Amino acid sequence: MTVARILAGKGHAIITASPHQTIRDVADTLAKHRIGAVVVCDADGAVLGILSERDIVRAVSAGGGAALSDPVTQHMTKKVVTTGEQASVEETMETMTQGRFRHIPVLRDGKLIGVISIGDVVKVRVESIENEHRALREYIASA
Ligand code: AMP
Repeated sequence: MTVARILAGKGHAIITASPHQTIRDVADTLAKHRIGAVVVCDADGAVLGILSERDIVRAVSAGGGAALSDPVTQHMTKKVVTTGEQASVEETMETMTQGRFRHIPVLRDGKLIGVISIGDVVKVRVESIENEHRALREYIASA
């Protein structure tokens, strides 16, 4: 199972933020779309960083309510770990576990084409394990 299969199932919709937006703007975007992170892109669509709800919690904890007016660029993670469509679900899960993050942007030729969350990865892993179990049960029953 590849990242491409996950994207095919969930679609390529990508919620991004612009570098000039504030933490408050991004909090609104996360709440509106019921997501946990946005990829921050420049006007040409190049990935500049990623900002998740954890970054917002940290920013508010350190700076209080005033942090909501800070630009996203002040609190985003700039060294973004990305993946490609041909990466396997297993290796993507490993990357996210090692990096301790729950979101990973998918790039094709350097362009952002989707975002995978740990929830997407767990969902397909559980489905795949259930399918394996069903096939094994059917095999045993027919033997
Ligand atoms: P998350 O678990 O995705 O909410 O993110 C936890 C922390 O990792 C936050 O500081 C994020 O900015 C950062 N982060 C999230 N996704 C990535 C990624 N793909 N590459 C690098 N850092 C990330």
